Amino acid sequence: MPAPAFTPEQRQRYARHLTLAEIGPAGQQRLRQSRVLIVGVGALGSPVALYLAAAGVGTMGLADHDRVRLSNLQRQIVHSVDGLEQAKVEVAARTVRALNPDVTVESIFATVDEGNAMSLLGRYDVIVDGTDSFRARYLLSDAAYLLGKPLVHGSIFRIEGQVTVFQPGRGCYRCLYPEPPPAGAIGESEQVGVLAALPGIIGTIQAAETIKLIAQVGDGLINRVLLHDAMAMTFQEVRYRRNRACPLCGDRPSIRSLVDYGAFTGAEAVR
Ligand SMILES: [Zn+2]
Repeated sequence: MPAPAFTPEQRQRYARHLTLAEIGPAGQQRLRQSRVLIVGVGALGSPVALYLAAAGVGTMGLADHDRVRLSNLQRQIVHSVDGLEQAKVEVAARTVRALNPDVTVESIFATVDEGNAMSLLGRYDVIVDGTDSFRARYLLSDAAYLLGKPLVHGSIFRIEGQVTVFQPGRGCYRCLYPEPPPAGAIGESEQVGVLAALPGIIGTIQAAETIKLIAQVGDGLINRVLLHDAMAMTFQEVRYRRNRACPLCGDRPSIRSLVDYGAFTGAEAVR
């Protein structure tokens, strides 16, 4: 069945995409028909949600177990004072709907964990990692790989960030980081500072990579990780390959279903 035509209002809203050779009507239809899951609606998830909503992603899943705190507003730009103490997914859903009522938002007020990750991620085409823990990063990478879904990874630490795309069969988080850091070795954003605009830079690159993946255009950040230092204001590209000895995506995988990520990373099972 052919996709429905764009309404006059949609032709105005998406005019700068429809006239862009790299997107055009075909790319915009792909965006409209896409289903994207953003896990973590905080510092990274904010710019991702805003840009994907503006771009006209058809269905956006927002998953987060947390509520909006005043200390979040220094960098989590999808939230505002009106939403203090409310579920982040509900506040972000309101912002997204106000920006673009075309977007269907599915709010998931829950921790994504071993018990729900497969069924949850399975309902979407592309997964975006906006989380802030190693436990969640390994979980999402394993689940996305086992489901055959691309994962747009981003992470930030103080004044540095990194972003890459894990395409199943072309490397995963375990290929980049076979072992998690010792528990407590690297603080999370609640304990250490974060430069306000840093997640905007990294999250916006995640949004751009997601749009390109859906529209099937350009060269994705596949097999390369972009490392950013906001103080030096440098970007460095490091290439990586699928590790043939990777326990998840290697030639002889030992991981065929989700494991206990709290035990693996030394983190609490549920934060
Ligand atoms: Zn791997």
